[in-house]
This record gives sequence, structure tokens and C-alpha cells, in this order.
Amino acid sequence: MNDRIPVRAIETLDHRPLRLTPAQAGGPIHTRRFRGRFRNLRLLGAGSLMALFFGTAWLNWEGRQAVLWDLAERKFHIFGATFWPQDFILLSALLIICAFGLFAVTVFAGRVWCGYACPQSVWTWLFMWAERITEGDRGQRLKLDAAPWSFQKLGRRTARHALWLAISLVTAVTFVGYFTPIHALIADLARLQLDGSTAFWVLFFTAATYLNAGWLREKVCRDMCPYSRFQSVMFDRDTLTIAYDAARGEPRGARRKDSDARAQGLGDCIDCTLCVQVCPTGIDIRDGLQLECIGCAACIDACDEVMDKLGYARGLVRYGSERELAGGRTRWLRPRLLGYVAALAVMIGAFAWALADRPLVSLDVTRDRGLFREKRRRSDRERLQPEDHQQIAAPPALPTRLARSRRPGAAGARRTRAGRGRNPRSGRQRRPAQ
Ligand code: SF4
Ligand code: SF4
Repeated sequence: MNDRIPVRAIETLDHRPLRLTPAQAGGPIHTRRFRGRFRNLRLLGAGSLMALFFGTAWLNWEGRQAVLWDLAERKFHIFGATFWPQDFILLSALLIICAFGLFAVTVFAGRVWCGYACPQSVWTWLFMWAERITEGDRGQRLKLDAAPWSFQKLGRRTARHALWLAISLVTAVTFVGYFTPIHALIADLARLQLDGSTAFWVLFFTAATYLNAGWLREKVCRDMCPYSRFQSVMFDRDTLTIAYDAARGEPRGARRKDSDARAQGLGDCIDCTLCVQVCPTGIDIRDGLQLECIGCAACIDACDEVMDKLGYARGLVRYGSERELAGGRTRWLRPRLLGYVAALAVMIGAFAWALADRPLVSLDVTRDRGLFREKRRRSDRERLQPEDHQQIAAPPALPTRLARSRRPGAAGARRTRAGRGRNPRSGRQRRPAQ
């Protein structure tokens, strides 16, 4: 009997040397500077959101901070309107609408929220900018990392961290300024006279911003954010994602600018790795769609620049759907997306109606427990305790129904004016309330 195991030599498909991406190497990710239309779009979006965040806290409206969540008074002012704790149902509805909106956008265009508008990404880009102006571009930062400690390295590192801390402090003060009047907060901060709880929250949010945007960065997106975990289940074959066109790019390889790549059996990718060097999460988009990809489109801009220089068509890395990359046509209108949009429209309509129909005065009536004993002892008299919740700053006239119920003899007066008239059950004269 032949006890030799049969073996067969097989060809490996890829003879390229193994090259670790920055994410796989595990060190800090230093991104390269780049330009492009998606970068401009992101700057516009992130700039507008930052202007909104840093600017709104300073707006005044009718003699009061325009947007203020007054925790001590349990009121939320937003421009002319005031919301009370019992309006929290509206806040919950608003959050559900935002979540649904995010789902609809994700079905349509993948992680655009992450790449263009998520505070984690926006602040990370801001911190990267701080890094670049204090320590230089990618090559200089890599050299600085490898260099031994010197006065120059210490100075640059100190400048980087000082700028990070300054941005974090401004962010924290602005955020806390939405919960306590910001003018008073700044004045107290300048005199170093913040009260204990305010000082705690300012320090807490300063530390959170510094750690998240300075140190944790892509780890938050990759390991901590729940949205990055479940967003892929919302994708379908027509969802737009950042994709590398392997059919066009492979086989990749370097070539002379004026050479005929097709004659050399090469695709359009020159393997310059610029798309990897600009990636804030340190991955290689040519390995396919990955959990770490936040959809920022930096790799598209970098690759388009390379294609322009070579005189090739743009779009080797582009927004594309799985169906389109397989040679088909993206279906824009599809049941899942339409379902999300329809549900969103209904929810927005219901929310607008609930907001417009919100009562400005509500009356909660509860039994007075102590007087319940009195009722058993003396008569069947009931006293109900009104509890008004004025929901606007200047109380309006009471509604007619409520005002009438407080007139003796009017319908409902039996409850609010205890002690007048006869008890309808016993026929005895009521005694005045004591
Ligand atoms: S792969 Fe491209 S889109 Fe994804 S995170 Fe990296 S640079 Fe951004
Ligand atoms: S930037 Fe474009 S050409 Fe360069 S490696 Fe990436 S995909 Fe290839």
C-alpha cells in the first residue's frame, strides 16, 4: 500500500511582496496632504457645522441666549420657543427621525455621514491640521517620530499638544455654554471662579475631545462606534461606496509616464500608494470595502490627482455600487430606499403636527392624599390639587374652560371650590375648606 500523501503544486495568484498598511502596522497614522473636489466638499460641510456649533452659542434672541438648555430651571430655550420636561417626547421623536434619516442616507450613499459630518471625523481632521502646522507634512512627521529627543522635537511636540488642548478647551467651553449662559461662563472662567460642577464638565469635555480626536481617532470609528458595526447590514448592491475598480486597475505596477501600459500588460494603477498615504484610517482601498473605511473620499481625490498627471481618465477609485462595478447599472429608485424615504416623510409630518399642536398650558390634577382622610371623616368632599405647568416664559391668560371652572356655581366648580353649596349625595351643607 502506498502511504505517501499525494501533493500537487499550485500557482499563487499574487506574487506581490507583503506590504503592511499603516493600520496593519499598528503605529500612529500620519496622513499626507492632498487636494481635490471631495476635500473641498468636506471642508465646506465641516466648516458650516463648526460655524453652527461655535456661533450659535453666542446668539441672543429676545434678550436671552437663543439656544440654552437651562438644567436648573428645567427649560430648553430654542430661539422663541421654550420646551419643558413633559415635551421630552418631542425630543425622542426628533432623535428617531434623525436615526431614520441616517438610515436612508446610508442605504443611498453608504457612510457619508461618517466621512463628512460626524463630529469625531470633523474634529479628527481639525487635529490633523494642527499636527501639520506644528510638525510638518507626513514625511516630516515620520522623520520626527524616528528622531531621538532634542530641543527641536520637544518644541514641536509641545506646540502640537498645546494647540490640541486649546482646541479641546474651546470646544468644551462652547458645549457647556449650551447648558449654562455662555457670557457668564466665559467671565467666570476668565476670573478662575467656575463653580465645582461647571469646572468638572469643562475639564471632562476638554479631556474627551483631546483623547478622542488626538489619540484615539480611527479607533473610535473602528472599535467603539456602534453605527460602524451595523451600517453594513443596510447596504444593498446599489448602495454607493468608495470603491477601487480592480477590473481597470489590475495588474497594478509602476511604468514610465509615456509608455504603453496595455502593451506591458498593466492596468491603470501605478501602485504609488498615495491612496493609502492619505487615508485617515490607514487602510488600502484596493483590498476592497472594509469596516474601517469611513467614506471620506480622500483616496478618490489622491487617485484622481495621479490619473490627471498620467493623462488617464479619473475614477479608478470612485463612488460606485457593487452592481455597477460588476458591469451593471446602479438602480437609484429601489423599494428599500423608497420605503425609508416614505417612512421619513410620514414621521416628519407627524412631528411637525405635534409641534404645532403642542399645548402651551397643561393642567395635571392629582388627589391630595392628606385630604382624602378628611373626606372620610367629614364628608365626601373632594379637593383636587391643580398643578400648572406654564410652558411659555410669559404666562398667557388661562384657557376659558379652566377659568370658568373656577367661578362659583359653574360646571366643575364642585371640584375646585370645595365647601360651597350642598353635597349632591348627602344633601348636607358643605363646610368651607380649612
Ligand atoms: S479608504 Fe478612502 S474613503 Fe475609506 S477611509 Fe480611507 S481614504 Fe477615506
Ligand atoms: S492612488 Fe490610484 S494609482 Fe496610486 S496606488 Fe492608489 S489606486 Fe493605484
